[in-house]
Amino acid sequence: MSVILEADNLVKHFRTGGGLFSKAGRVRAVDGVSLRIEVGETFAIVGESGCGKSTLARLLMRLLDPTAGEVSFDGQQVTRARGKALSTLRRDVQFIFQDPFSSLNPRLSVGRLVGEPLEVHAPEMGRSERREKVAELLRQVGLRPEYADRYPHEFSGGQRQRIGIARALATGPRLIIGDEPVSALDVSVQAQVVNLLADLGRDLGLTLILIAHDLAVIRHMSDRVAVMYLGRIVEQTTTDALFETPRHPYTRALLDAVPDLDDRGGATRARIEGEMPSPAAPPPGCTFHTRCPHAQALCREKVPMLEAAADGHATACHFWREIEATPRVASRRIRSDAAHARLNLYRRATEGAEIIPVATNGRPSKSPDNREEDT
Ligand code: SF4
Repeated sequence: MSVILEADNLVKHFRTGGGLFSKAGRVRAVDGVSLRIEVGETFAIVGESGCGKSTLARLLMRLLDPTAGEVSFDGQQVTRARGKALSTLRRDVQFIFQDPFSSLNPRLSVGRLVGEPLEVHAPEMGRSERREKVAELLRQVGLRPEYADRYPHEFSGGQRQRIGIARALATGPRLIIGDEPVSALDVSVQAQVVNLLADLGRDLGLTLILIAHDLAVIRHMSDRVAVMYLGRIVEQTTTDALFETPRHPYTRALLDAVPDLDDRGGATRARIEGEMPSPAAPPPGCTFHTRCPHAQALCREKVPMLEAAADGHATACHFWREIEATPRVASRRIRSDAAHARLNLYRRATEGAEIIPVATNGRPSKSPDNREEDT
């Protein structure tokens, strides 16, 4: 397969403080990330809130300039793109935002919102042709063409996210980056939007980069996964390998903290101990050593490099071989009704079964999202 997007040693540091009452510092949001995304794949970037995954997504499509490192799309440098090259990038790479309400201008009708990218990237298109194209895009995301005359506030969260997806599709992109595209939605609607994205990716031959903290979404949609911790990738492999043989202690802890598809809520699960350190003052050596049950003296001194094993499964841990041989220890019972509800919904949606709305308390939901959403 050919590579569509490549990041080489990408770094983004933000300056902080430096005022009258605070010392100047810098937040290492992304700290040396290299990636190769192949045409047609769904690549997920996963990690806890604050790990740098959203900053990385913005660097990949040049919504932010990097402190160091390079990004190339289809063999062309993104980091120094200007003029026509930048306009082509904006056409070919689209972004789906987390919050479908704030990402849509409330003063514009749906028709204007979805048609706006066409005005910029296809100015030769006449008004009636554009209106037809908008109708086609709305149908493609499961909305009625007559919705073009309505405004964002008239729609549910799931419908607004569909409008955002239609807008992203308008330019005929080759790559779509979704930054937590379903995390702001009601749990029952998440499954519908996740499946819509998966179908569109397959039908249109799109490459998808999915930023998520929810492992259920990752497992359902992605071909490969990179796990981030404090601005660095600590593990990267295929989705199947990640869920079957996680090698980094952080990944193992993340997976142990959620129920799997066959788990009906009674399992004992592990929880990651402690808080993620501040990216403004990351610990020396392996940045996970403050929370890692396997940490040794070397971990506090030397940064582990991302090392690829013979099977291509890459891990940044000094002791992954020894740790792989140890059983995953379940340490604590946790309740996760929302995760169970979500996993069941994804499975039902995949199997084509009727989706029964389930709220986070496990009872049938009566939210407008569930009533109005059309699949
Ligand atoms: Fe844990 Fe050490 Fe591996 Fe870091 S390098 S994940 S602290 S065992």
